[in-house]
Amino acid sequence: MLSDFFALFFPRFCAACDQALVQGEEIICLQCDYRMARTDSLSDNNSFVAKKFYGRVELQYVWAYYLFHKKGRIQNLIHRLKYDQMPEIGELVGRKMGNDLLKKRFEDLPDLIIPVPLHRIKLRKRGYNQSEHFGTGLSTTLKVPMNANALIRATNTESQTRKSRMLRWKNVHQIFSVPDMQTVHGRRVLLVDDVITTGSTLESCALTLLEAGATSVSVAAMAAAR
Ligand SMILES: [Zn+2]
Repeated sequence: MLSDFFALFFPRFCAACDQALVQGEEIICLQCDYRMARTDSLSDNNSFVAKKFYGRVELQYVWAYYLFHKKGRIQNLIHRLKYDQMPEIGELVGRKMGNDLLKKRFEDLPDLIIPVPLHRIKLRKRGYNQSEHFGTGLSTTLKVPMNANALIRATNTESQTRKSRMLRWKNVHQIFSVPDMQTVHGRRVLLVDDVITTGSTLESCALTLLEAGATSVSVAAMAAAR
């Protein structure tokens, strides 16, 4: 009753559709939770998400939870996560994906979860790495440890948009590095990110991890665009 009273004056809003949340709803309203499209990547190893990486880097599993649409609820949700100081969205989606995998009785779990690192300037500005929060949700449900320092980003990619494709490719391979190879050597790594579009960031992260001695690399993202 008291919480209803507070909700009247301090309503909480759905991070996907901006409607007021009712009691029992957390972050995402039930309608959005029902209507936001999921990809089939958790049950299909040859999904459109996996196909993005064919011929580029060998990945064991490629999972993306939501199907990303521009100007949709999912874009709104990701925007909140990245720019509105709502890291809890990442954890929520991570828990959802983790629970879905457990429901499917998925047992081929990785040894280690590693989030795609943010450049330190961006990290300082935002205050958190959204991919790390998504990784936390997966880590707690799947009971797989996460190491957010295993992979680091050396340069800022923002300045590269106007460079030639070849030069950009070369640069991408120098962006990420593994400061201590022992952390990934012989491990099956699950690399986590927010949204997969072209997949080039994940490709270079995965190549860096494999070069550093990871046994295999899988990818999990909150969403993927077709
Ligand atoms: Zn909603």
